Amino acid sequence: MKDPQMAVNPVPRARLSIPEYAMALAHVASLRSEDPFRKVGAVAIDFDNRVIGTAYNGLAPGYNAAPDFWSDRDDRRKYMLHAEVNLCSLFTRGNVRLVACTTKPCTSCMQMLCAYGVKEVYYRDDYPESEANLIAERYGIQLEQLIDYPQVATSMDQIQ
Ligand SMILES: [Zn+2]
Repeated sequence: MKDPQMAVNPVPRARLSIPEYAMALAHVASLRSEDPFRKVGAVAIDFDNRVIGTAYNGLAPGYNAAPDFWSDRDDRRKYMLHAEVNLCSLFTRGNVRLVACTTKPCTSCMQMLCAYGVKEVYYRDDYPESEANLIAERYGIQLEQLIDYPQVATSMDQIQ
């Protein structure tokens, strides 16, 4: 039988790096997404390592979709505001150093992060259709995959 204290605090680890911290927060933000097919979270960190904001993909603020809205996976796509779009609505150009996204930014979102002057972008899940790598390379933005960060344990994890 497991030590109950160990179930709550599994393995002590070193202090989180700023990218790990941002990704853990982005993961939590993704849990708020209303999209049943793809949940994406994003976090912006400024030049003093402060969290500027968190965001997730979803419909326009205040819009309440009818239940059948979600029945067509492809048709919904054009209406979804990407997490990075919602995130960039929270700050002005030049105020954010680092963005963490749970999915690699699509081509359009990577262009937007460039326009906002973001210097470093971390993502967890790959998105092969994206041309983010070419955009980042050309404009000198650091783009890295980051998968090793503390995951949020569910209640089921803790009782097993
Ligand atoms: Zn996008």
